[in-house]
Amino acid sequence: MDKKYDVIIVGSGVAGLFCALSLPREKKILIISKDALDGCDSFLAQGGICVLRDEDDYDAYFEDTMRAGHYENRKESVEIMIRSSQEIISDLVGYGVEFEKKDGQFVYTKEGAHSNNRILFHADITGKEITSKLLARAQERDNITMMAHTTMVDWVCKDNVCYGIVVADMDGKTTAIEGDVTVLACGGLGGVYPHSTNYRHISGDALALAMYHNVKLENCDYVQIHPTTLFSNQSGRSFLISESVRGEGAVLRDKNGERFTDELQPRDVVSKAIFAQMEKDGTEHVWLDFSPIPEEEILNHFPNIYQRCKQAGYDPLKTWVPVVPAQHYFMGGIYVDKDSKTTMEQLYAVGETSCNGVHGRNRLASNSLLESLVFAKRAANDIVNTNSFKQAEDFESLVNMDGYEDLPSIMENYHAMVVGEIKKEENLRAKKEAI
Ligand SMILES: Cc1cc2nc3c(=O)[nH]c(=O)nc-3n(C[C@H](O)[C@H](O)[C@H](O)COP(=O)(O)OP(=O)(O)OC[C@H]3O[C@@H](n4cnc5c(N)ncnc54)[C@H](O)[C@@H]3O)c2cc1C
Repeated sequence: MDKKYDVIIVGSGVAGLFCALSLPREKKILIISKDALDGCDSFLAQGGICVLRDEDDYDAYFEDTMRAGHYENRKESVEIMIRSSQEIISDLVGYGVEFEKKDGQFVYTKEGAHSNNRILFHADITGKEITSKLLARAQERDNITMMAHTTMVDWVCKDNVCYGIVVADMDGKTTAIEGDVTVLACGGLGGVYPHSTNYRHISGDALALAMYHNVKLENCDYVQIHPTTLFSNQSGRSFLISESVRGEGAVLRDKNGERFTDELQPRDVVSKAIFAQMEKDGTEHVWLDFSPIPEEEILNHFPNIYQRCKQAGYDPLKTWVPVVPAQHYFMGGIYVDKDSKTTMEQLYAVGETSCNGVHGRNRLASNSLLESLVFAKRAANDIVNTNSFKQAEDFESLVNMDGYEDLPSIMENYHAMVVGEIKKEENLRAKKEAI
């Protein structure tokens, strides 16, 4: 790892990798990841990625996204995302990503709150297919250096300009790295929740730093709870049972085996219905009944989900599977404009860590991989179009390296800041809505 780069990217998920690949090969780029390079939520995505199939679907796709977001979405961002989707899919295919096809044509699936089949998928490991191919392409590039198990602990900034970051390696040794531009692609904040589908290390660190350095955040209380994760008494990451299982026909049942809600409503509505049912029944979970889905479809479309349920002792071909809602996705984040610029100069944010307003109050299923990719590419384009960047007169003097000795306490403090901010925003919104 050198001491100076053109672009520093924090995060090796789809957003960080796609941003790096969308930058010219002349740029010297560093990508860091807190965990292994493949230890990110992007690898976990199951259901798929949305695309505008043809012009006839534009209005319906736009309306589905807005309705799911309770019409709080930034319309401009939604439009940009949908209009860019075909180009992004074609980029992915160019990088070697394979989506399900029949007779040479893409197959499209559907998930809750979608009025049309517009989701491309790769079995039930779409995220792994996309991210592993992007990672492989990035690893082939001479201009990209990657550092795993390297944690961003601070930004190096002055007068609202970002000049780089401070990182810690696995032994806690800290280094300041200078960059003309820093791109935050740090994912969501599931790690601060006891029950989440996210990796534990993805815990909103960039949000805490934004608070600390007075960078604008937006909608930090907009946290999506996924209705269906496999119920377990064990701690650790909750296993997701993709929305497309319900999209393909699976139904929810209460303790008496009765259906109690329309399974294809937006996630927040289904989650609420499940919580209410659990409370009414005094249970820790409800049941997901796969039987309306043809056996062959379960085995071919959902092989990973099928195996995981079986490992837990529930064969979806024979029995209902216990499910419970868990934290899943973060719609809020570091406020960015349509080019992914934050309110600090030379600092961008992309992917789940950012808030460009696409999702409004609630994400429409399978919109997040697409949103991450579209706005990561826009960040890259904006970086290329920006002719000059401010340079720090004396970079080393901007940071006191003695301040990072007690890393565990620093990270704990960041997590507490994130939790506190979510609670504060929730309370403020509740008060506003009560008026
Ligand atoms: C189980 C599951 C299923 C999903 N299914 C779908 C789906 O079907 N379709 C869809 O569109 N979306 C889906 N999503 C959501 C989607 O996967 C994510 O929104 C998206 O992958 C986020 O990508 P990202 O690049 O922003 O972040 P991530 O892929 O989460 O990557 C974050 C990166 O930031 C790094 N990082 C974090 N903090 C630091 C730090 N302090 N220092 C250094 N590095 C740091 C991490 O190590 C990691 O490399 C799913 C999510 C989950 C969890």
